[in-house]
Amino acid sequence: MKKVAVIGSGTMGNGIAHVFAQNGFQVALVDISEDALNKALGTIAKNLDRIIAKGNLTEEQKKHTLDNITTYTSMQDGVKDAELVVEAATENVDLKLKIFRDLNAFTKPEAILASNTSSISITKIASVTDRPDKVIGMHFMNPVPVMKLVEIIRGYSTSDEVTQQVMDISLKLGKVPTECNDYPGFVANRILMPMINEAIYSLYEGVAGVSEIDTIMKLGMAHPMGPLQLADFIGLDVCLSILNVLHDGFGNPKYAPCPLLVNMVQAGHKGAKTGQGFYSWTHGTKELVVADRFKKK
Ligand code: NAD
Repeated sequence: MKKVAVIGSGTMGNGIAHVFAQNGFQVALVDISEDALNKALGTIAKNLDRIIAKGNLTEEQKKHTLDNITTYTSMQDGVKDAELVVEAATENVDLKLKIFRDLNAFTKPEAILASNTSSISITKIASVTDRPDKVIGMHFMNPVPVMKLVEIIRGYSTSDEVTQQVMDISLKLGKVPTECNDYPGFVANRILMPMINEAIYSLYEGVAGVSEIDTIMKLGMAHPMGPLQLADFIGLDVCLSILNVLHDGFGNPKYAPCPLLVNMVQAGHKGAKTGQGFYSWTHGTKELVVADRFKKK
């Protein structure tokens, strides 16, 4: 397998395109936005430079990697030769169902259709195609070039053969694929999101401030960063949408998103990507500055 299409070139899509291209796959990177595609190519080049600076890549390998990526704004053109498609478009169920209907129509019948969704049911996504045995979750972690895990989610009808193929491809990318079944949030977000939500509730109820919550969890649990900083990195809109999937899917009030999270998303404070979340990101990611409204008066 050599030809891969990646749908969506945002935070995750550019990283997924990067790792496939760096490992010798020909990648068609598709987005509805020309701007997003240009930004993605810039991000990939910058991330490759970081790897070169660490002595783990040559300039020539960087060139090969970038040469392996072709960008498209037409999905039909981008996916027609693909043997594997990894969809990493915005986390919205109606959008994903539309994309998979189109992928079913535009790809070769034998192509495997994977989704990088954080929480939407793979079985539901598969149900709009006529090849549910070839639909699977391939959940990369952010930042994709750095993080080793790929959570491989088997839908209700995903075949053993397709699961094995996707596990093998993930190994070729230098990742550690780990299999689970298709229930709301899968494993990663079923466990992570309630922790993030509880951290937001602790702030909302005044138990502690942003820095205190993050410091306690970071140093106390040996996490690389606190849950509020992580939420800012993931995107507060993404966190909210995953909590809604958990809440709807299990019907259990323990997953109800904290009203503060709902408010912040409605106000457009979605974390690092919008410059404001629990932290203010106007200084970049190097310096953590608690957002003005959460600073102690
Ligand atoms: P993002 O908002 O950064 O990027 C989404 C991209 O999809 C945008 O560039 C948008 O233009 C594009 N898009 C929208 N509709 C499209 C269409 N019809 N065809 C092609 N492109 C389209 O989002 P993201 O954070 O990269 O998330 C993408 C997926 O990855 C989501 O399903 C999300 O749940 C999942 N995910 C996100 C993270 C994370 O930390 N952000 C981690 C794991 C998985």
